[in-house]
Amino acid sequence: MKIAVLSRNSSLYSTRRLLQAIEARGHEGVVIDHLKCDLVIEAEGPSIYYQGEKLEGISAVIPRIGASVTFYGTAVVRQFEMMGVFSTTYSQSIVRSRDKLRSLQLLSGAGLPMPKTAFTNYSKEEKNLIDTVGGAPVIIKLLEGTQGLGVVLAETRKAAQSVVEAFHGLKARIIVQEFIKEAKASDLRVFVVDGKVVGAMKRTGKEGEFRSNLHRGGNAEVVKLSRAERTAAIKAANAMGLSVAGVDILQSARGPLILEVNSSPGLEGIEKATGVDIAGRIVEYIEKNQPKKKGTISKL
Ligand code: ADP
Ligand code: GLU
Repeated sequence: MKIAVLSRNSSLYSTRRLLQAIEARGHEGVVIDHLKCDLVIEAEGPSIYYQGEKLEGISAVIPRIGASVTFYGTAVVRQFEMMGVFSTTYSQSIVRSRDKLRSLQLLSGAGLPMPKTAFTNYSKEEKNLIDTVGGAPVIIKLLEGTQGLGVVLAETRKAAQSVVEAFHGLKARIIVQEFIKEAKASDLRVFVVDGKVVGAMKRTGKEGEFRSNLHRGGNAEVVKLSRAERTAAIKAANAMGLSVAGVDILQSARGPLILEVNSSPGLEGIEKATGVDIAGRIVEYIEKNQPKKKGTISKL
């Protein structure tokens, strides 16, 4: 099989590992920069030109679409889907996962537990908004932030009001969320492939930091999940329509709470913490499904 990794940078750990895994399993691997793809749409059928040449013979794609290029990147994935090429991640699921509000609505619709969250259309009623989620301290998040940037812990009601006002003044869309103190600056990253947990780690923020993101200097250690955590992670990936997902979970006094579901989860932290060949599991998933699921057009 010829399998393409859609990535802007072939030297990134995740891209390199996916290529290695593709080749180790006897397939041909290529890296395609989605931003360099031209999409042609005509009655005879959709096609993609890459650096002037028509792309042909690709059986499956593994999208690694960064948050800053969601619009064009998902258009490219959608084009592959229309061409009948199997994708490990549906374009539509990537779009959903990039909007924190939409994701939380989908997850709550599926009955999954999460921190209490409020959203408003630039309301002047900051006080009510903060009370709705139980009062200070609260977490305030930019709707489209990533890697922990745009996530603020407001310790007092006054601070929370000022932050909400400031974001609204900038016309930035935000959510206000109950702060889960007992998570103690840690969260779980659970990697799900094809409806199964393939690896899990506990990430803890560096000294004095409530955010556990590795990009913010957090560290990771392998962790054994409880049954409730495992079930919640699998359900969350399913609710988002993701066969490859990085599910972030907060451990609270009332059990696991889903924080978010990543559609292009990084491989480096999780492979290094767990020693599991996660790239290999993704390629295995393609091997199992590629002939069966050809033509994902109905999912557009
Ligand atoms: P991003 O998508 O930018 O990573 P997250 O929503 O995952 O944003 O938040 C970043 C980090 O902040 C989380 O990994 C977690 O450690 C911490 N955090 C986020 N929301 C809460 C919350 N409601 N209570 C406690 N900690 C939180
Ligand atoms: N892009 C990384 C991921 O989704 C973020 C990791 C982190 O900041 O902790 O796995």
